[in-house]
Amino acid sequence: VRRLAPLIAVLAALSASAATAAPSTGTLRVLVVPVTWGPQPFTQQRIDDVVLGTAADWLHRASFGRLTVTGTVLPWQPVLGAEVSCADRARIADLALAAARAAHVAPSAFDVQAFVLPALPQEGCAEHGFGSFGGSEIWLYGTPDWITAVHELGHTFGLDHGNSWACAGGACAGREYGDPYTVMGHGNGLFDAYDLLALGWIDTVARARDGTFQLGPIETAGPGPRALVVPTARNEYWIDHREPVGPDAGYGDAVARGVELHAEPNRTSPVAALRYESFADVLLPAGAGDEPWLLAPGRTFVLPGVFRIDALGPATVRFRWLDRTPPRAPVLDPIGRRAACRSHRLELTWSHASDAASGVAGYEVTTAGRRLARVADDFRFEPSATVALHGRLTAAVTAVDHAGNHSRPAVVRIACS
Ligand SMILES: [Zn+2]
Repeated sequence: VRRLAPLIAVLAALSASAATAAPSTGTLRVLVVPVTWGPQPFTQQRIDDVVLGTAADWLHRASFGRLTVTGTVLPWQPVLGAEVSCADRARIADLALAAARAAHVAPSAFDVQAFVLPALPQEGCAEHGFGSFGGSEIWLYGTPDWITAVHELGHTFGLDHGNSWACAGGACAGREYGDPYTVMGHGNGLFDAYDLLALGWIDTVARARDGTFQLGPIETAGPGPRALVVPTARNEYWIDHREPVGPDAGYGDAVARGVELHAEPNRTSPVAALRYESFADVLLPAGAGDEPWLLAPGRTFVLPGVFRIDALGPATVRFRWLDRTPPRAPVLDPIGRRAACRSHRLELTWSHASDAASGVAGYEVTTAGRRLARVADDFRFEPSATVALHGRLTAAVTAVDHAGNHSRPAVVRIACS
């Protein structure tokens, strides 16, 4: 339930494989330890039914069978001397895990440890639960509720909140949990396509290029992209489509009348994901009336100077880049030219180029109009290429933005004697 700056969220996502994030595919083993200061308002079996029954079944269906949740629910452990505060999470976990070990259950045999309190404590509780971001522990505060269990497990997979963006009277603001559909917002529906791809539950998204795209509903497996992804200099825009089936069966037919637009952290340049300030994963108001979140047929979304999307059908959109501005040229670093003359290989490094609209996609290294190398822009690395000279005396590096505009070339000339 905690808020993270987009930069941290993106860096965490990029390093998720190295962190202790709970596995979102395969088998997730959950140890559930109900701990109490006295009251036992619901049974061990009820907790089992909710966490390892309803929530586990939902995750299995939502993941198209890619995630199976198994585990163990211990009996109530009366180890909390008095009513706790939600701020006591670390102490609650320590006492619960000690009780588990005393019962000869090894917490390390599980991917996630879940701590259930008998009631929402009087103090320090803003929410019904807490999940460590990309971690392995969740707390359920007196609510044996499958939505809370799935939401907090979502955090352990590294998922952020489903927020929304609202503008009124010229002032715009993000609303945490404002997405009315995903369980990471205030809905009880499926995670959005951005989350589904991060979880490894869907495989196919389309990258933006001028053309028409037919999106498959995110609740079903099948051919075709589940989202159109538009990288820009600031946010990434994800366009996806829901239908009232599977985990979204409760939403009725209206949800299927258009596509949703989400602004997400930019995976290629997290420092640029600033348009929506601290709100990553923002559902944008793209419609009107009783369908404010849907870009329905006949409606258009324009990011001025960057791109335009026209909804042609409930799940069909036409995409056009509007960015006609070339990126700024990269700046070549000084190089060892004499060494290049001896080895006939030229090692080039250059500074990241910039592009304020669609963003820099990569670089082309050419000589006399022939392409020698293509290098993707990756904020983590200084761009570089090693090219064979073969008697050529010049090479050029050109930045290319996502819309296909080329910068002026940065040219290096070699004089070998
Ligand atoms: Zn949360």
